[in-house]
Amino acid sequence: MVILMSPDCRKAEVAEILAAIRGRGFEPRIISSLSRTVIGIVEEMHHGRVEEMTALLSGLPGVEGIETFGGSFKLASREFRPERTIIRVRDKYIGGAPVVMAGPCAVESRESILRIAEMAAASGASFLRGGAFKPRTSPYSFRGLKEEGLKYLREASNLTGLPVVTEVLTPEDVPLVAEYADVLQIGARNMQNYALLEAAGETDRPVFLKRGLMATIKELLLSAEYILAKGNSQVILCERGIRTFEPATRNTLDLSAVPLLKEMTHLPVVVDPSHASGKRELVPALALAAVAAGADGLMLEVHDNPEAALSDGRQSLTLEAFDYLMKKIERVSMAIHESETGELKCA
Ligand code: PEP
Ligand code: MN
Repeated sequence: MVILMSPDCRKAEVAEILAAIRGRGFEPRIISSLSRTVIGIVEEMHHGRVEEMTALLSGLPGVEGIETFGGSFKLASREFRPERTIIRVRDKYIGGAPVVMAGPCAVESRESILRIAEMAAASGASFLRGGAFKPRTSPYSFRGLKEEGLKYLREASNLTGLPVVTEVLTPEDVPLVAEYADVLQIGARNMQNYALLEAAGETDRPVFLKRGLMATIKELLLSAEYILAKGNSQVILCERGIRTFEPATRNTLDLSAVPLLKEMTHLPVVVDPSHASGKRELVPALALAAVAAGADGLMLEVHDNPEAALSDGRQSLTLEAFDYLMKKIERVSMAIHESETGELKCA
């Protein structure tokens, strides 16, 4: 249930509503949007209870309207937050003009991550990505440098000023990864690892949540809901391709997810064409299409020597190809966003 307060309501009126909700055994969630205060009740309610609460609250001063959530996700919905969420990470903003998160699939060595970070920054990337804890299909593949890799990422970040996005695989590792990372990545394979979602939801780090290989849009939003429900409002959604019958690409990029998600949720949406396609020659076209479709950012795998990469070399752009693509991204982004105005508001 969403309670829309009138734009000129007083603080005392909001306090009265909150007390009335608590008095009925619910925990209100409050957000102040640009135009008005919105109060949400996310607990499940049977029909009679909805009617009772609607009658009670609609009679109180300052209430302009009451709606019920249209979908099963609530805090992620646009009913709860009409304005777009913009997430600030150090001096960068996700949710305005598109940002680019670039880096290798895995952190392989100190020298290589420092080199890639410097080149990515010089080409205009805003974030450094790289896995220190790698989920691999085979247990015998390279599974990351763990804490050593996190240290190299931090060093590369300090050197370049790029905030770090890196994956966390288990709830137990969340405190360690959060110590080094600016943004916690939850990968496709873990999208429905609810204990991990909740552990990330208990941190103050933004969470980069990738769509599961076989997950629907609704399931992605319900996974985001687990993080939001723990009090962490900084969730970035990532479309990274889903599994279909087509074997020519690693996955199938679901580009319709971008405008669809933007209609359904206030959270920023980023596209990862590297894992979607699995082939570096397909990445530029998909990256540009994603920006044109309104994505708030791109996650791109980039390597200084893709042929020798310990993981995902086939889909990694060379530093030169990345530099060239960045110029094109800039042009498409300008074409899409130049006519847009609007106030930026942080989560
Ligand atoms: C990654 O970003 O390196 C990764 C493992 O991605 P995904 O979870 O989308 O497969
Ligand atoms: Mn990868």
